Amino acid sequence: MKQVTRIHQIEITSRCNLTCRYCVHKKMPRPKMDMDGNTFNRALTLVQHFVRAGTQYELSVHGIGESTMHPNFIEYIRRARLLLPDIDLTCAINGVGLTAEMADVIAEARVRTWVSLHRPEKAGPAVELLRARGILAGVSADPAIAAIDWAGQVDWHNSAGSAPCMWQNEGMAIAWSDGRIGTCSLDGQGTDGVIGTVWNNPEALFVRPYSLCKTCHQTIQ
Ligand code: SF4
Repeated sequence: MKQVTRIHQIEITSRCNLTCRYCVHKKMPRPKMDMDGNTFNRALTLVQHFVRAGTQYELSVHGIGESTMHPNFIEYIRRARLLLPDIDLTCAINGVGLTAEMADVIAEARVRTWVSLHRPEKAGPAVELLRARGILAGVSADPAIAAIDWAGQVDWHNSAGSAPCMWQNEGMAIAWSDGRIGTCSLDGQGTDGVIGTVWNNPEALFVRPYSLCKTCHQTIQ
């Protein structure tokens, strides 16, 4: 077991507006829901704790879901930056629902944003909106060029190659949309990967290898 050192991601929604066959989303038994305001505030409090402890320098505002679908996406992005003024805020979106207003707020809040090319014809305008504001972090075509099978949860090929697992090796955790804390961002199951909730004492959160790690391409040291 390793003590959690940071909340690497906050999954503000587990809903999505696409159904990609190479993604674990449609197979997830856990709830498809938006994170409520109290839970989001508490998740940010945990991040603040790890920032003060000197073990957290970044936060990604997405999980298994499309963050721009959250009805309070703009408010949440603003709040994250207000409460975490100095860390590296990032987000990954599919670009389908990105508006100019959202892109303005992302730029104001300095959220480095990746666009995943699940639907290139729809992601293209999002790429341009973010690029024009100088906040596009990159464009990902991973399902084609660096594919994974989500630790065996999805019938897809693996071409990403083996890599060290930062979740287990570095003590990273993810706050899911329902307020539970998980050990891994690949986890669509939401069963034995749960290590607590956002309401726990952050110093009592520990990551440990679990069932999904046995079928994963990543390695634990
Ligand atoms: S080894 Fe386990 S914790 Fe690490 S990425 Fe794979 S499933 Fe997740």
